[in-house]
Amino acid sequence: MMNATLLQADHEVARLIDRELERQQTTLMMIPSENYASRATMAAAGSVLTNKYAEGYPGKRYYNGCEIYDAIEQLAIDRAKELFRADHANVQLVTGTQANMAAYFALLEKGDRILSMRLDHGGHLSHGRSNNFSGVWYEPHFYGVDPDTERIDYDNVLAVAREVRPKLIVTGASAYPRIIDFKRFREIADEVGAYLLADIAHIVGLVAAGSHPDPVPLCEVVTSTTHKTLRGPRGALILCRQEWAAKIDESVFPGIQAGPLMHILAAKAVAFKEAQSFGFREYQRQIIRNAQALAQSLLEEGFELVSGGTDNHLMLVKLIGKGISGRDAADTLERAGIVVNKNTIPNDPLSPAETSGIRPGTPALTTRGMREQEMHRIGKLIARVIEDKGEHEEVIAEVRKEVLDLCDAFPIYHDII
Ligand SMILES: *Cc1c(COP(=O)(O)O)cnc(C)c1O
Repeated sequence: MMNATLLQADHEVARLIDRELERQQTTLMMIPSENYASRATMAAAGSVLTNKYAEGYPGKRYYNGCEIYDAIEQLAIDRAKELFRADHANVQLVTGTQANMAAYFALLEKGDRILSMRLDHGGHLSHGRSNNFSGVWYEPHFYGVDPDTERIDYDNVLAVAREVRPKLIVTGASAYPRIIDFKRFREIADEVGAYLLADIAHIVGLVAAGSHPDPVPLCEVVTSTTHKTLRGPRGALILCRQEWAAKIDESVFPGIQAGPLMHILAAKAVAFKEAQSFGFREYQRQIIRNAQALAQSLLEEGFELVSGGTDNHLMLVKLIGKGISGRDAADTLERAGIVVNKNTIPNDPLSPAETSGIRPGTPALTTRGMREQEMHRIGKLIARVIEDKGEHEEVIAEVRKEVLDLCDAFPIYHDII
């Protein structure tokens, strides 16, 4: 039981949290945007800091009594700046989508053109989807991956940029397994006179640890989440050059929010400190080694991967010709205790609700301490479930048992109970 006080006050919520803890402990969490925050991070997030308003910024609050809050936010800002070697950091953002909203609000006028990665090639809805604010307030144009290599076609990005003349180029993705060449994006942006924003929501931990090229010196603005590979609390941040600092801060407050979530902000400070450790750098390297081991295992089992493999924390498995959709594969895997999400693959013949792919990732399994050997085994378990297409209950049961054995051998939060 996580919290005896909660159990006493509200057993319904307490029991649900308890069941969710058990689900996290007894399943393989392979959604690449998810992770296990540390107990220290969760302690800050569940603290008395939820109790107070702190509209504004350190030293410039609209409420009294913010002395401690000023110190906490300044600590988070300083740690973020140091971790990412950035001129300026805004750590108040609640979600990654909201971080992009604030960044666009600072860089663009209503109706300006943006150029970003197609959603069905791995982009994010906050990069111009027609029913997201980004597609309603701005004029989105898109680049995609090359049909043969399934990697970003930089020549095509340049060609589209020349034609469209965007005010802003957005780089960054939710489902792209390869290194992004931020230098090349900067050259393209310069050539057409556009600003460059890197949304590193997914790869932020790799960037912080030096395991992926760093966009911070190359971009006007960098946005990110804090809960994915960074392994912090659910939240986001913006990094920018000094010349954009005032504009970004004003776009966040009063632009798109009032009181910040100071308990989450404190948890971000804790996570930034954790990310500065040697262990964290090693953790990020192991995420990549694990992803490559899992990719290798899936290839050996006869699966095709988008772009043929991975350089980062995730991969896209193609299910065309396997007789099962991404949705059904993900649902069947979940019954066996393996939690992945369905995902479109480039030029997917099926709808986004159905899809022809799944998107497994290794950040959370790596937090559990699993390594290449376990990844090989998990690749084979995934193959067994998908090849059987959920037709035999005993196959699901056998895999479920192996999953439980793995979870037992690599426990999480076992001291909470
Ligand atoms: C996850 C993600 C975001 C932010 O998502 P939220 O759910 O709004 O926190 C933004 N951009 C990309 C590329 C992402 O993958």
